[in-house]
Amino acid sequence: MSSSIWDMILDVSPGSLAELERPRSGVAGGATRASVEQLEARLDWTLMVCEAMWSLLKEHADVTDEQLVDRITQLDLEDGKLDGKKARPPATCGECGHMVSQRLRRCMHCGAALDGDVFA
Ligand SMILES: [Zn+2]
Repeated sequence: MSSSIWDMILDVSPGSLAELERPRSGVAGGATRASVEQLEARLDWTLMVCEAMWSLLKEHADVTDEQLVDRITQLDLEDGKLDGKKARPPATCGECGHMVSQRLRRCMHCGAALDGDVFA
């Protein structure tokens, strides 16, 4: 399979997400305001995707809200701290061997596509 689940989700995202990739000019407040607006739009989209996935799970699998909260707590504690964040160690690029953030989709050193965790 050549595309990740994240690629499939982005394929059905509204056109406004594609607009986010374009640099904006003339936006009041400058680049910082545009960045905040981009982050807010991505957060709204991510929350909607999470809500859709959770509603499907509840409908089609025998899982409860309590189990979801327990799993969230487990994931939060994987880095040793219950702080609402999950620290992730850097990954190694399979092409050039440099250490790269698991949040990147491409290696910042050689440009190779990274098969990172879609939730990183
Ligand atoms: Zn690389």
